[in-house]
Amino acid sequence: MYVELKSYCAAKDVTFVVVSKTRSIQEVTNIYDQGHRQFAENRVQELVKKYEAMPKDISWHIIGHLQKNKVKYIAPFVSLIQSVDSLALAEVIDKQAFKLGRSIDILLQIKIAGEDSKTGYSYDQLQREVNNIKALSHINIKGVMGMGTFTSDEEVNRIEFQNLNEYFSELKGTHFRDSEDFKTISMGMSGDYKLAIEMGSNMVRIGSLVFSS
Ligand SMILES: *Cc1c(COP(=O)(O)O)cnc(C)c1O
Repeated sequence: MYVELKSYCAAKDVTFVVVSKTRSIQEVTNIYDQGHRQFAENRVQELVKKYEAMPKDISWHIIGHLQKNKVKYIAPFVSLIQSVDSLALAEVIDKQAFKLGRSIDILLQIKIAGEDSKTGYSYDQLQREVNNIKALSHINIKGVMGMGTFTSDEEVNRIEFQNLNEYFSELKGTHFRDSEDFKTISMGMSGDYKLAIEMGSNMVRIGSLVFSS
């Protein structure tokens, strides 16, 4: 499905991130060899392992819950941290980036699913902390990320994606009025990427479907 997904996203001007978690180096190399350069992992250890084993022109994203004490392992090379869900985590990323003399791009992960298991900021909490995150000078806030409920009920996901789109617009119109960086809405996975794009996503994170034949 890789080629079909790639052209679908390209036609809609949506950034296509291949989620390589649980896949072997060989499987990921196969996608790399077709020209793909944006991959995402949800675990630090696996991300570091793949980074070390694979060509250095790959942009690596982290999409899973990130522990503060593990930021240092990915800070030198990570290209986008999609799962920032607290000021404390943002401060650690900022500190590591400063030490390395770089800036790190991040997305603010907002909880849109009802299930308790899904991580991310509540929108209320984010609003309380966003000014403090903005003030950190070694991170660039590129937008928001969210994960829909795992369900076959499309209406549930439609409302969740619409909510994330609205949170994005509200942040864009207020705190990020003057930011050219703040433009990414990362939502949509194998089961719901078409709906997510319809609801305004401009970055999808797709794993299973890419690696199915
Ligand atoms: C695993 C994962 C994905 C990709 O899921 P698929 O259903 O395999 O496409 C996307 N986003 C996050 C945060 C994930 O953990």
